[in-house]
Amino acid sequence: MAASNSGTDRKALVDKFGRRVDYIRLSVTDRCDFRCVYCMTEEMTFLPRKEILSLEELFLIAKAFVDLGVTKIRLTGGEPLVRSDVLSLVERLGQLTDLEELLITTNGAQLDKYAEPLRAAGVTRVNVSIDSLNAERFKRISRVGKLDKVLEGIEAARAAGFNRVKLNSVIMRGYNEDEVIDLAEYALARDIDIAFIEEMPLGEASDHAREDTTCSNAWVRELLNSRFELSESAAKTAGPSRYVDVKGYKSRIGFISPVTHNFCGDCNRVRVTVEGRLLLCLGNEHSMDLRAILRAEDFSEANLRDAIVAAMDLKPERHYFYEKDHAQPIRLMNMTGG
Ligand code: SAM
Ligand code: SF4
Repeated sequence: MAASNSGTDRKALVDKFGRRVDYIRLSVTDRCDFRCVYCMTEEMTFLPRKEILSLEELFLIAKAFVDLGVTKIRLTGGEPLVRSDVLSLVERLGQLTDLEELLITTNGAQLDKYAEPLRAAGVTRVNVSIDSLNAERFKRISRVGKLDKVLEGIEAARAAGFNRVKLNSVIMRGYNEDEVIDLAEYALARDIDIAFIEEMPLGEASDHAREDTTCSNAWVRELLNSRFELSESAAKTAGPSRYVDVKGYKSRIGFISPVTHNFCGDCNRVRVTVEGRLLLCLGNEHSMDLRAILRAEDFSEANLRDAIVAAMDLKPERHYFYEKDHAQPIRLMNMTGG
C-alpha cells in the first residue's frame, strides 16, 4: 500500500539553527556478526527482544518521517542483514511514494545472498564497509569477519544494478594506515566510490586508545596525492562526505572527517536507534523516546509525527569530539546506527 501524506507538513522538520532534516538513519538491530575494534567490544551484551522495535514499529517511524518530508532513509545497525525478515521491512519502505532514496550500510558478509532481493525490494544504493584487503588484517580489525565473503558481497552488489555502490574504510594507525592506496585502487578499478572515515570516539570499544590510532583525513589525502591526481569534485551528496575526482578514473574518493572537520553546520540528518530512541546528533545524547509513543495506549500516527516535530528543538548545534570540557559519547556505534 502506498502511504499518503495528506494533512501533514512536509517542511516541518527544521531545527533551532534553521537546518532542515530530510535524511534519517534507521537502525534495525544492535546485533552484528562482526566485532570491529572501533565499534564494539569483544564480548557484547545485546538488547533483549522486548526492548527492540518490531518491524511494524520501525515502519511506522519511517513512514512518519517520510510524511514529514524526509526523502532519504539509510538502514543500518549493528549489521542490518542479521535481522531476520529485514527484507519485508525493505519491501514496505520501497513502496513509500515520497521516499526518493532507500540505502543500506552493511559489512557485506551476507550481500552475496541479499544483494539481488534488496535491489528488487527498492534499495537504491549500498555502502559496504571494508577496512583491509589482507585476510589476516581484516580478521584482526573485524575480530571475526572473513574477507572472502565481503569481497564476494561487493561483487554481488555490483552485479545487482544498484544506482551506486560505495565502500567505507576507517583508517587507523597501527592497523591499516598502509592500505590507503590499495583500498583506493581496489575501488577505482571497479568504478566504485570509496570514502575514508576518521575514527570517532564513540564509547570504549577496544583495547586501543583512540587518540593514538585516529588518522586525520588530511593525512590520508596527502598519501593519496602521492599516487593519484586529485581535484575537488563538483558532486555534492546529501551526506557528510566531501569528494574528490581522480584523474583517469570514473569513480570518486570521499572523506568523512567528523573529528578534524566539523561538518555540523549543514547537518541534515537524525538517527533512530533500534530501541526507538530518536538521536538528534551522533556526538551528543539529546534524544526522544519514540518507543514510548508507539507503545502508548493512545498511540496515533499524528502523535508520533507531533513528537518528531517537537524533537527538532533538541538538536544541538554541533558535536564536541575530543574537546576536553565536554563529555564524550558513551554509546557504541552499533547502538547509534552508523
Ligand atoms: N554493520 C554495518 C557496517 O559495518 O557497515 C553498518 C553499521 S556500522 C556501525 C556503520 C559504519 O560505521 C561502518 O562504516 C563503520 O566502519 C563505521 N563505524 C563504526 N564505529 C565507528 C567509529 N568509532 N568511528 C568511525 N566510524 C565507525
Ligand atoms: Fe558490526 Fe558494522 Fe560495527 Fe563492524 S562496524 S562491528 S560490521 S556494526
